[in-house]
Amino acid sequence: MKSLQDNCGVFGLYSDTECAHEIFQGIDFLQHRGQEYWGISTFNKNIHQVTHYGKAPGILSHEELKYLKGTWGIGHVSLWERQPVRWQCQLGEIAVAFSGNVLNADGLIAEMKARGKSFYHGYNIEVISKIIMEEKDVVTGIHALAKKIRGAYSLVVLTKDGIYAARDIYGFRPLILGQSPGRCAVASESRALQNLEMEIRRDVLPGEIVLINDKGFQTVAQLDSPRKAHCAFEWAYTASLDSIIDGVYVQEARNNLGEILAQRDIEEGDMEADIVAAVPMSGIGHALGYHKRSKINYQEVFLYHRYADRSYTQSTQLAREKMAKRKLSVLHYAVKGKRIVLCDDSIVRGTQILHKVRDLKKAGAKEVHVRIACPPLMCPCDFGISTRSHEELAAKRYLKSEDITSLGQLRDLEAWMAKDIGADSVKYNNLDAFVAAMGVPKEDLCLMCFDGKNPTEKQ
Ligand code: SF4
Repeated sequence: MKSLQDNCGVFGLYSDTECAHEIFQGIDFLQHRGQEYWGISTFNKNIHQVTHYGKAPGILSHEELKYLKGTWGIGHVSLWERQPVRWQCQLGEIAVAFSGNVLNADGLIAEMKARGKSFYHGYNIEVISKIIMEEKDVVTGIHALAKKIRGAYSLVVLTKDGIYAARDIYGFRPLILGQSPGRCAVASESRALQNLEMEIRRDVLPGEIVLINDKGFQTVAQLDSPRKAHCAFEWAYTASLDSIIDGVYVQEARNNLGEILAQRDIEEGDMEADIVAAVPMSGIGHALGYHKRSKINYQEVFLYHRYADRSYTQSTQLAREKMAKRKLSVLHYAVKGKRIVLCDDSIVRGTQILHKVRDLKKAGAKEVHVRIACPPLMCPCDFGISTRSHEELAAKRYLKSEDITSLGQLRDLEAWMAKDIGADSVKYNNLDAFVAAMGVPKEDLCLMCFDGKNPTEKQ
């Protein structure tokens, strides 16, 4: 996949020893969330910072390690904006990094410009930082942010007092706390904490502001949260398979999604296949779930090019398509003469799954049955992982309405999609099955890209 964008990852560490190297490791474990920029800021009397274009390299250079002095700091990986950003302001010297998307950035910039504020690029991070810096302290600043910003964000702010970590009032993006003797940390995903041998403490709550310093974690404010709206796509695709988000293992959710797809095939008598396979990497959890329920052998049919970047974090469509082509090659021996159930997480434009089906057939597959863990994507995302427009969504080319609750409509779409991508059949999970597999109450999830309902608006 695909055509998703605007994602990124944040990390913060307060330690009793020099922290730069571990922050570097922390963001390395979040690299799947963004590969265009990376950066680290540390605090030692003042802020020391490095940011770079591209993926975080294998090692932090000796000079950078020496320069990034301090026992607390923050790190960031990004697709679009170079972060953290360092500021001198009435709050002292601070550095800010966030994961998410500000929907009303243009309006906020216009309003601030009218008040005499100036902007360098007009990036989201500038808007966020300037709103915080107008207030008397960071907590009041984050409070002001929650009132002014429409969108999704998980945020870290580095100051002389420690690291402030905050999640927007709906909790769209994940943010989790971890600890080990002498170290307290916050990260976009638990894998960054687990792989640094920390115990997972808990998720930051929607609207919660946590200060991390030598006293550990302190909740310094809890803003009113109208409802939770965790991004359902995190479990289905975005997050790493080894993470746990808001109490639900990503692997478990993906296995469940695959099992439900298999269950439907069992019930509908469509289980005539030789092997179950995945579109790596995002389809693996789903395919294993399908295999578990169906008892059909799991077999790899694509060899994953481990040095290729995840395609959705490429910044242009052309780059994404080139990368998608480069990253998977067909294992002809496994495929020849086989009836294959091919599992993936979702279909966005449909071009990539079309290529995969075509590649398998060219290699001699007898049949390819595509099974998709997510319901059809019917609406662009406003909250940080963005399909560009309705026109680009494959399912939308067929169904005009967002209402895919009727089973008949879903079946019609599946038949159309199978024809469109050259597969022998296509099946999606419907929305109710998808939600059931997550194990998160429906009212706590954002499902807007499937049902078109904006969770921040009254329905
Ligand atoms: S619209 Fe979709 S991708 Fe965006 S936050 Fe909601 S569930 Fe996630």
